Amino acid sequence: MSRTVAFVGLGRMGGPMAANLVRAGHRVLGFDLVPELLATAAATGVEPAVSAAAAAAEADVVITMLPAGAHVLALYGEGGLLAAARPGTLFVDCSTIDVADARAAHEAAGAAGHHSLDAPVSGGVVGARAASLTFMAGGGAEEFAAAGPLLGAMGRKAVHCGTAGAGQAAKICNNMILAVSMIGVSEAFVLAESLGLDHQALYDVASTASGQCWALTVNCPVPGPVPDSPANRDYLPGFAAPLMAKDLALAANALRAGGVAAPLGLKAAELYADFAAGEGAGLDFSAIVHTLRPRNGTPA
Ligand code: NAD
Repeated sequence: MSRTVAFVGLGRMGGPMAANLVRAGHRVLGFDLVPELLATAAATGVEPAVSAAAAAAEADVVITMLPAGAHVLALYGEGGLLAAARPGTLFVDCSTIDVADARAAHEAAGAAGHHSLDAPVSGGVVGARAASLTFMAGGGAEEFAAAGPLLGAMGRKAVHCGTAGAGQAAKICNNMILAVSMIGVSEAFVLAESLGLDHQALYDVASTASGQCWALTVNCPVPGPVPDSPANRDYLPGFAAPLMAKDLALAANALRAGGVAAPLGLKAAELYADFAAGEGAGLDFSAIVHTLRPRNGTPA
C-alpha cells in the first residue's frame, strides 16, 4: 500500500533512504534545513516541503534521520511536528540517539496521540543507497508491523528489539562490541609486528580460530589480508571514526546512567573520542591501529 511519508533530515543517510521510498512507490514529502539537500532529494522524486511541520501535516508516517537526540526532541516539540500531524500518525525516528532521548520522544509522541517507533540503522551510506540497511526497532508490535513495508523499502532486515528505546539500546550495544573488538584486533596486529609475525600469517590463523570476528575478517585494520577493507584505500570510510565516537559516547552515557562498569567499553569510548577529534577525523574507524603502535620508540 502506498503511503504518504514526511521525511525530515535528507543528509548522507536520509537522502538515499527517502529516494528508496519514492522508488518503492510511496509519496515522500521531504525537508532539510540545507536547501541544496532539498534540491538533490527533489531530483530523486521527493516533493520538497516548506517546513518539517508542513510535511508532517499531510503524512501518514513521519520519518526523522537527524544528527542527535536534541534535534529530534526539538523538532517533535518546538518544531511542531507532533502538533502539526494528524492524530494517530506513526512517528519513526531512524537517527542514532541517546536511549533516554528516544524514550522521551516516544512519550511525547504518545502524549500527543501518535504512534511511535525508534528504528536506528546499521549499514552506513552504502547500505542506505543500496536499500540494504538493518533496522533495530523499539516500540509496540503494531507500530513495528505498520512500519514494516517502509523499512522493507529502505533495508534488508528489521529486528523488533522490544519496547520504547530498545532499538537504540541494541545499536549502542552492538557498536560497543565492534569498537572493543576493533581495538583488540588492532592491538594483536601491533603485537605481531613487534614479534616479527606477518600480518597474513596472523590473519590466516585468527580468521579461522577463536579470534575470528567482523573487525578482523571484513574490516581488517591492516592492508593486505582483506582486499576490500578500508585499510587498502588509505582508510577512507567505511564507518567513519567520528560516527563510532558518537555511538560510543551514547553507550558511555547509558553505562554511567545504569551504573554498569564496562571498563573496556569506557576505554574504547575514550580512545575513539581522542582519535576522532584528531587524526581520525576523516578516516575509517579501523585506522585507530595507527595510534596503538609505539611512537619514537615509546609505547603508544
Ligand atoms: P547528516 O549530517 O549527513 O544528515 C543529517 C541531516 O539532518 C542534515 O542534512 C541536517 O541539515 C539535517 N537537519 C538537522 N536539523 C534539522 C532540522 N531541524 N530540520 C530538518 N533537517 C535537519 O548525518 P547522517 O550521516 O545522514 O546521519 C544521520 C543519522 O544517522 C545520525 O544520527 C547518525 O548517527 C546515524 N547513522 C549514520 C550512519 C552513517 O554512516 N552516516 C550510519 C548509521 C547511522
